[in-house]
Amino acid sequence: MSRPPSEIAFLTRALNDPDPSGRSQLVAEYESVLARTFNAPSAVALNSGSAALEASATALGARPGTSIVVSAAAPLPTLMPLIATGADLVFVDCLPDSPGMDPDDLDRQLAGRSDIPAAVEVALWGYPLPQQSKVLDVLEARGIPLIEDASHAHGARVDGRNVGTLGTVGCFSTHRMKLLSTGEGGFALTADPALAEKIRHYARIANLDGVSLGRNFKPSAFTAAIGLARLGSLHAVVDARRQRAQELLSLVPAGLSRQINFVGEPNYYNVVVLVDDLRRTERLHAALNDAGITTDPVRFRYKPGTDHPITQKWARQCANARHLATAAVQLPVDPGRNAGETADLVACAWERS
Ligand SMILES: *Cc1c(COP(=O)(O)O)cnc(C)c1O
Repeated sequence: MSRPPSEIAFLTRALNDPDPSGRSQLVAEYESVLARTFNAPSAVALNSGSAALEASATALGARPGTSIVVSAAAPLPTLMPLIATGADLVFVDCLPDSPGMDPDDLDRQLAGRSDIPAAVEVALWGYPLPQQSKVLDVLEARGIPLIEDASHAHGARVDGRNVGTLGTVGCFSTHRMKLLSTGEGGFALTADPALAEKIRHYARIANLDGVSLGRNFKPSAFTAAIGLARLGSLHAVVDARRQRAQELLSLVPAGLSRQINFVGEPNYYNVVVLVDDLRRTERLHAALNDAGITTDPVRFRYKPGTDHPITQKWARQCANARHLATAAVQLPVDPGRNAGETADLVACAWERS
């Protein structure tokens, strides 16, 4: 397969770079183009989305003895880097039919606590979250910063603003399955230059200051090179995705047209439809997986964040997260997949369910 010339050109620059490490000029360049593309004051390039979440939470003060508030709909890749900080988790139930936190439950869970350095939201499947401004109000009243895990949400927008720039810091993955792919990689966006410096410090083994703990979370020049080559086409990738999503939604059976609650413009990382008859949902998942459409419960063991053995000590009843995780069916919108063929497979699976 022939590669776009810009990918070859940027990779050649990385190969010829006398310092292709995280200190490469290409990494600095990638960061400034990331900031410009997402309209954020600062970007810190990292070697994964997990690194972005761990570094951001740590930079905001997460450590043993503190607790991070997180939506009960959050998947394992969101939760694990938070657990790695040593902080405890406080699960907040999500809204009906959206992975966004319910502001009332958030308020209840925060009552009387002063050990919370950050809250984490995740615009799962690329749908911007309803009631985000209410959630921000509840957090701001208590001085708690919001981390957005925007790993699914490159290019999703609300009122002209990018998901990942709505809170204090936005964390993105550029793993090969995400809408911006560098194979492995990630980055963090923030409007707070001091916070960007703290994230950078942690990700650079704390500059060996011997005082604070750090990790090596730097990306190499090769990661930055691929990112630079592909960032320019992100908008086109997202536009194509939106178009294919609308086509798919117009072709799937009427019973599968109920989407999750969202605001603004999703990037349609997935099209997610809800099937409230949960026995039928289970059969639909099975039939889709037989047809080669691997949905999240099979592919990623997706379930409510409260339901994993590693989160048991923080578990509480979160009925909306449970219903969402069970009723949601993730349909693929990949380039190269014909919407008509996908819709046919989905219609067959629906009939069999
Ligand atoms: C992919 C992903 C991550 C982790 O990113 P990596 O780059 O794989 O470490 C975190 N959160 C969500 C929601 C993701 O989809």
